[in-house]
Amino acid sequence: MQKLLLFLVALSGLVLSVAPNEACASAYDANPKLVVILVIDQFRGDYLDRYRGDFKTEDGFNLFLKKGAYFPQCYYEYANTETAPGHSSIATGAYSNGHNIANNQWWDLSRTTTHMVSSVEDPDYPLVGASADAQLGASPRNELASTIGDEVVLGTREAKLFGVSLKDRAAILTSGHASTGAFWIDHDTGKFESSTYWGAQLPEWVNKFNSSGRIEQARKEAGVAEGSFYDKVGDKPAAVSYELDFVKALVEAEELGKHNVTDVLTVSISSTDILGHEVGPDAPEQRAMIDATDVYLDGFFRWLDQHVDGGLANVWVAMTGDHGVAPSPPMAAVEGMPAAAFSAKEMVDEVNKQLNARLAPAKTLTFVLPAALPFVQLDGSAFAQVGIKEAEAEALVAKLLPGALDATQQDLLKETPNPRGLRPATIRRVYTKTQLAASDVPATEEGKRMLHSYTTNGGWWVIVSFGMYQMSGNANGGTTHFSPYSYDRHVPLGFFGTPFVPGTYLEHAEPVDIAATFAALLGVNRPSACVGRVVTEAIKAGDGGSVRPHP
Ligand SMILES: [Zn+2]
Repeated sequence: MQKLLLFLVALSGLVLSVAPNEACASAYDANPKLVVILVIDQFRGDYLDRYRGDFKTEDGFNLFLKKGAYFPQCYYEYANTETAPGHSSIATGAYSNGHNIANNQWWDLSRTTTHMVSSVEDPDYPLVGASADAQLGASPRNELASTIGDEVVLGTREAKLFGVSLKDRAAILTSGHASTGAFWIDHDTGKFESSTYWGAQLPEWVNKFNSSGRIEQARKEAGVAEGSFYDKVGDKPAAVSYELDFVKALVEAEELGKHNVTDVLTVSISSTDILGHEVGPDAPEQRAMIDATDVYLDGFFRWLDQHVDGGLANVWVAMTGDHGVAPSPPMAAVEGMPAAAFSAKEMVDEVNKQLNARLAPAKTLTFVLPAALPFVQLDGSAFAQVGIKEAEAEALVAKLLPGALDATQQDLLKETPNPRGLRPATIRRVYTKTQLAASDVPATEEGKRMLHSYTTNGGWWVIVSFGMYQMSGNANGGTTHFSPYSYDRHVPLGFFGTPFVPGTYLEHAEPVDIAATFAALLGVNRPSACVGRVVTEAIKAGDGGSVRPHP
């Protein structure tokens, strides 16, 4: 009898301990069935409020604005606001000093002297399904931190993790190392491709999609019969619809959201960035792109509702951008801002000229390599020839850069200033790698952001902060992003899903908070270098909010 009682007590304990867990979110119980991380490339934080009145759909951006938790005050807290580090920061919840991806490309003279290596370049894993002339391989090997998707896979050993974008870096770095697959397009053909990191062949459903006529349909919709798919179709709304159709094919073929554990899908919409660089954030074409994206996202999320077990009620989504963008220099100048469009190439050439005159007058050495701003890289072997070590070399380049920039702008400096015209660019401050490695920076917000931009990639370098609204190129329109200023760091952040209390939250948030929040809610480890914050203010009590009753 006593034994029976003990057994019953134990059994009831078992039942009690199981039931509440089932009610709690957990990756291990497939609650939710699917986590989606949606990145919109070059999606500045003011767009959603600026064009809010345009959004007529229910489940496009309104999924976050009306049905989700929306954080309009979301800023990257680093200085290198580029695509690869942006996606890596979202995925890993870390900054460049954590995941080591500080730029889209950099010189690695130990690997090759012919070109800058891309953030995902890896010759050990050749591309699969690429055009014949595309020889370079790709993998996540340069990303030195785990992603939230990686942690869900490591925790469950069963989760499916996929990444999709038109861009290789945005598909690979956002999904991570333990992904089942990552897909991006061949620039010429528009066909989705991958690398041998994920398999010797493309999955059959990818081949089927590529030969389905969908590429031709996108070209027709974009009104572009010939030329690079990426450049000519990629900057049209038709490419957003094309990309999302591929994602649907993936969800269907890989049965995402139908497994016993939580699956993770990362999607990065590239077209906003391809167009944005051409026309700038204030052009009517970019507004039309964002409005079209709203409609396509609405269609996608409605479709997802039908194709995941339990519908959207079983899906969590985080939406953000990988960086903001500056207004195009002519537009900013007309409004009276001290905008500038200098030439980084001329600036670097001038520094090399001055360094040669000073250090090696009989030779023509390349001390400073072509720049990928905000970084300017040095060739250590050239400085070694004249007996100068890293700290001294970087300090010397930092000192010479402002004067070199001035030397390239003599005509503009002589002109009578026009308050509504482009002005000479200025360098506010240069930080050296040696300085950042020693955390030798002012105890300011800018100092912190520079420390977050630190990377061991790229040999010797300095990081340059130019004046506001200033960039290399784009004197006649178009624009870019790369600076530590608010307009380049500002992106929206939205969460949708059962744990979140719908509303607009004016608290400071950062894209690194996505990985921290999802890790907490899913009950998995944070990514290896994660520094993000769990947005407890937006989480329901009982789902991991600041007040969580014990089961
Ligand atoms: Zn980008």
